[in-house]
Amino acid sequence: MLKNIILIIMDSARYDVVAAAKTPNMDRIGTLESRWSYNSWTFPAHHVFLMGLMPHKSPANVHASNVYRQEYAQWQTRTGIEKIDFSDFTPQLSLPLFLQKHGYRNEALVSMPVLNPATNLNQYFHRYELMEKHNDFPGMIDLILPIPDQPTFYFLNLGESHYPYTIRGAEQSNIPHLHGVHGTLKHFREGETGEWFSDSQFAEMKLAQQRAVEEIDLCLPKLFHKFAGTSAHVIITADHGELFGEAGYFGHGPIQHPKVFEVPFTEGQLPGE
Ligand SMILES: [Zn+2]
Repeated sequence: MLKNIILIIMDSARYDVVAAAKTPNMDRIGTLESRWSYNSWTFPAHHVFLMGLMPHKSPANVHASNVYRQEYAQWQTRTGIEKIDFSDFTPQLSLPLFLQKHGYRNEALVSMPVLNPATNLNQYFHRYELMEKHNDFPGMIDLILPIPDQPTFYFLNLGESHYPYTIRGAEQSNIPHLHGVHGTLKHFREGETGEWFSDSQFAEMKLAQQRAVEEIDLCLPKLFHKFAGTSAHVIITADHGELFGEAGYFGHGPIQHPKVFEVPFTEGQLPGE
């Protein structure tokens, strides 16, 4: 049978934060890589995931068309489907549609409201749900019930790593609270006045994101246990990074900065128990 696919996207999880975090369970999947997102904001970044494109390596001296061809061919290893060509994804360029044609069931559980089921991201999914809370990975795992005789693609967006970096459904945090902008974008130019964060507050927020990543890692065994006895390929990555004061920015979105585009990436077979 074809492999289950578990694609875990830790929203806003910055590469160096994940690299600094204690993640023994992620480490069992594969080696953590620094990669580059195609986007700096949640919605378009998730759209690209659903095109079947994972964060790239920014390779030099190669034609982009060859990079795309190789990227699409990687779904052979990930799924167990033989001989995948880029043309198998055309003209829709949809990963869930491609998988559906090969007998997959497609399930999405998303945490960030911007990815809600009224958007066009839910195309070709058999199940597409927005979680009640933005930071409830354990609750999300409870909703995952692998089907014995059908390979399934699980598209999981986790919000623990998103501002305000709270875990287990908590509403409040001790980190500085932003009014109005939801922490997605904050930038004061020179001469502007207003609330801004101190270096120690930025350090505190970065550490809070690291703790959120560690909490996500602690939940992984419970998720993996559900797939015991099946074959599954796991991908863990982020949609974009986060700025903690670099160049006068906080957050992500319409920002052109390497730390917004650099993301963690690891993939591999589900570890045996
Ligand atoms: Zn995001």
